[in-house]
Amino acid sequence: MVLSLNIGSTGPTDEKQNKVWDVIIVGGGPAGVSGALYTARGNLDTLVLYRAEADGALGITSNIENYPGVPGPISGYELLKLMRKQAKTFGAEFEKATVIGANLKGDIKEIYTEDGRVYKGKTVLIATGALERSSKIPGEDKFLGRGVSYCAICDAHFYQGKPVIVVGDSEYALEEAELLSRFASKVTMVVPIKRVKAPSEMVRQMEAKDNVEILLGRRPLEIVGKSSVEGLKVKCPSGDERVIPSEGVFVFLGGSKPSVDWLRGQVELNEKGGVKVNPETMETSVPGVFAAGDVLGHRYKQAVIAAAQGVIAALNIDKFLNNRKDVQIQW
Ligand SMILES: Cc1cc2nc3c(=O)[nH]c(=O)nc-3n(C[C@H](O)[C@H](O)[C@H](O)COP(=O)(O)OP(=O)(O)OC[C@H]3O[C@@H](n4cnc5c(N)ncnc54)[C@H](O)[C@@H]3O)c2cc1C
Repeated sequence: MVLSLNIGSTGPTDEKQNKVWDVIIVGGGPAGVSGALYTARGNLDTLVLYRAEADGALGITSNIENYPGVPGPISGYELLKLMRKQAKTFGAEFEKATVIGANLKGDIKEIYTEDGRVYKGKTVLIATGALERSSKIPGEDKFLGRGVSYCAICDAHFYQGKPVIVVGDSEYALEEAELLSRFASKVTMVVPIKRVKAPSEMVRQMEAKDNVEILLGRRPLEIVGKSSVEGLKVKCPSGDERVIPSEGVFVFLGGSKPSVDWLRGQVELNEKGGVKVNPETMETSVPGVFAAGDVLGHRYKQAVIAAAQGVIAALNIDKFLNNRKDVQIQW
C-alpha cells in the first residue's frame, strides 16, 4: 500500500468540484455508504467525502460478527470495503477529503475541505460519526496557533527543518504525520495506546522513514513551553514522565462526541450534542440536509443501525429532490 494524500486540485478532483451533485455525503462509514448505495442506485449523482480509508468507528474496529449477512468475524475495515465496493457498482463516487466547513443554507449547498476544495450539492447527508474529542491536553488551548495545530497541510511549512510531534492513534493521524515528515527535521508520533489503528503495511512504511519515530503507549500529559510550544510531557509505559522537545504539536486524537464541529452551528443539535433530525425522515432543521448514524448522538451505536438510518435518509433525499408525495421504496 502506498501512502497517498489528496493534496491540491488536479485531474478528476477538479471535475468533481466543477459540478453540482444531487447528493454530497460527508462520511464514508456504514451510514454514509449505505445512503450512497441507495441514492446512486436511485440514479442520483452521489459523491461521498471521507477523511481516511480505515477511519470512523467501523473502520478502526478489529472484529465484527453481528452484521447481518456477513457471518465474520471480519475486520470493520474489510466490511467497509465490501460496502463501498457495492455502492461504487451503482455509480457512487468517493473522494478522500477532510471536511472543515459548509454553507448549507440556500438551494445549492457548499462543502469546504481542509486543502481548499469546494464541493457543491443540492442535498447533503451528514454521516461523520461520533469520534470527536470531549477533553483537551493541558496546554492545548494556551498554545493554539503558537505551536499547537490540527491541520498538517495548513501548517506543515512553518516547521521546515524543525522537530514536531503528532499525537494520535488513527490512520488519519498517520497520514498527517506522513505529510509533516516531508517538512520537519523529525516527526515523533505519540500514540497513547499500544497500537496504531491503521493497516500494518502503512505503519511499517512510516516506521521505515529516517525522520519518523513512533512511540506507542505514551500518554500525553501536558504541552509545555513559555511563549510557544517547547515540548510535550508524556507518561511512558514504565510510569516515568518525560518531556519530548518539539516546536510543534499536531493533535489528532479521537473521542466519543458526535463529529459536528465542522458544521459550525448550521443545523440544530439535540440534547446529546448530536444532529437533531426528524426520525421518520432523517431530515435536519435545514431543508435538503439530512443526517444518519452515530453523528445523531443516540445510544444505539451499531453498524446495522447506522446503515439503516443512511438508507432512510437516502429514500427521503430522493423524495426531496424529485418532489415526491411519499418515498419511493426500492425493490
Ligand atoms: C471499538 C468499536 C467496536 C465496535 N463494534 C461494533 C460491533 O461489533 N458491531 C456493530 O454493529 N457496531 C460496532 N461498533 C459501532 C459501529 O462501528 C458504529 O455504530 C458505526 O460505525 C457508526 O457508523 P457511522 O457511519 O455513523 O460512523 P463511522 O463509522 O464513525 O464513520 C464516520 C465517517 O465519517 C468520516 N468523517 C468524520 N469526520 C470527517 C470529516 N471532518 N471530513 C470527512 N469525513 C469525516 C470518517 O472518515 C468516516 O468515514 C463499534 C464501534 C467501536 C468504536
